[in-house]
Amino acid sequence: MSYNDPTIEKTAILAKYLDLDQRGAVIAEYVWIDGSGNARSKGRTLSKPVTSVDELPEWNFDGSSTGQAPGHDSDVYLKPVAFYPDPFRRGDNVLVLAECWNNDGTPNKFNHRHEAAKLFEAHRSSEIWFGLEQEYTLFDAADKVYGWPTNGFPAPQGPYYCGVGAGKVYARDMIEAHYRACLYAGIKIAGINAEVMPSQWEFQVGPCTGIEMGDQLWIARYLLSRVAEEFGVKISLHPKPLAGDWNGAGCHTNVSTKEMRVPGGMKHIEDAIEKLSKRHIEHIKLYGADNDMRLTGRHETASVTSFSSGVANRGASIRIPRSVAKEGYGYFEDRRPASNIDPYLVTGIISETVCGAIDNADMTKEYERESS
Ligand code: ADP
Ligand code: MN
Ligand code: MN
Ligand code: MN
Repeated sequence: MSYNDPTIEKTAILAKYLDLDQRGAVIAEYVWIDGSGNARSKGRTLSKPVTSVDELPEWNFDGSSTGQAPGHDSDVYLKPVAFYPDPFRRGDNVLVLAECWNNDGTPNKFNHRHEAAKLFEAHRSSEIWFGLEQEYTLFDAADKVYGWPTNGFPAPQGPYYCGVGAGKVYARDMIEAHYRACLYAGIKIAGINAEVMPSQWEFQVGPCTGIEMGDQLWIARYLLSRVAEEFGVKISLHPKPLAGDWNGAGCHTNVSTKEMRVPGGMKHIEDAIEKLSKRHIEHIKLYGADNDMRLTGRHETASVTSFSSGVANRGASIRIPRSVAKEGYGYFEDRRPASNIDPYLVTGIISETVCGAIDNADMTKEYERESS
C-alpha cells in the first residue's frame, strides 16, 4: 500500500485527522503578498483562540525566497492586519492577512497597503466604497486552458458568458467551492459569473470601505488559489492569457463616495470623472502589468492611450451604469484595471485622485518603489 495507490480513499483517511482535538491550540495561516503578485502563506500554532488583531504575534519569513529581499538581509517581517475564519481547517483556526515590513523599519517594496491606508485614513469622512470584479482564467496541469480540446480550440465566444450546460461552462464545481469558502471566511463576495472566454470566470467583492477592499480581495484570491489547488487547477490573473479573438481579463473597479450615493450624487460622479480624465497615465501605470495587451479598444475595452467615459458604454474607460444615470446618483465603474492589479494601488490612487492628494502619501511613487 502506498500513497499513490489509487484505491486508497485519501479524503476518508484525511478526515480522521481533521477530526482530532487540537487541545485548545489554534492554527493561524499567515497570508502575505510576494514579489510577483501572488499570495504566499505559512502556518503556526497559537495557544488560544484569537479575538482581536493585536493578539496576533508579528512573524517573519525568508524574503530572499520570494523575491522580496536580498540574500544578505533576507528577513521580512509580517505584521498582522486582519484575520478571518479558516474554511479549510475550520473551528477556531484562522487566516491572518499580514503586511510585509523590512528589517530597517520601512514597508517592503511590495507592501502598497501601508501607503494606501494613509489616504483612506485622511479621507475617512468621504466613506469611499469599492466593488471589485475579479476576472481570472483556469489552466490545467499541462498549462492548457482548463477543459479546452487537446488539439485546436473551442467554438468561438458567444455561448460561454453566464453559460449553462456541458460544453459551455467549465469547472463549476470548483467555482462553487470557492464561493462557499469566501462566505465562510466572511468575505463580502457579491456574486460570481462565467465569463465570455470559456474557462474564464469572475467573482465580485464589495462594496467594501477603504482599505478593507484590498484586504478582502487578497483573501478571496488566496482562497481561490487554495481551492483550485485541491482541484489540480491553476489560476491565471494575466490580463490577456490568450492572444487572438479571446477576451482579456480585468478587475473593473466600482467606486462611490458618500456624496455620490445620495440624490444629487451625479454631480459628484461627474466631478470625479473629470479629475480621473486628467491623470489617465498616472492611473494606467498602477493598473496592472501587460494591461496594454488587453486595453485594445476591442473585446469590451477602451484604448490604453486615451481616456473616455459614458453611460452604459462598455467600450469606455469609465462607465456610468444606466440605472445610476436614471436615478441621478450611485457609483461609477473604472473599467481600466487589469485582473492582475494590486488592489491597494488601484483603490489608493482612486482615493488620491477623487478625494484629494495628502502630504505624507503619493501612490504614483509606489510604482517606482516597486520597480527600484
Ligand atoms: P457589471 O455589470 O459591470 O458586470 P457586477 O455586478 O459584476 O457589474 O459588479 C458590480 C460591483 O459593484 C459589485 O462588486 C458591487 O458590490 C459593486 N457596487 C455596487 N454598488 C456600489 C457602490 N455604491 N459603490 C461601489 N461599489 C458598488
Ligand atoms: Mn461583472
Ligand atoms: Mn466581467
Ligand atoms: Mn464590470
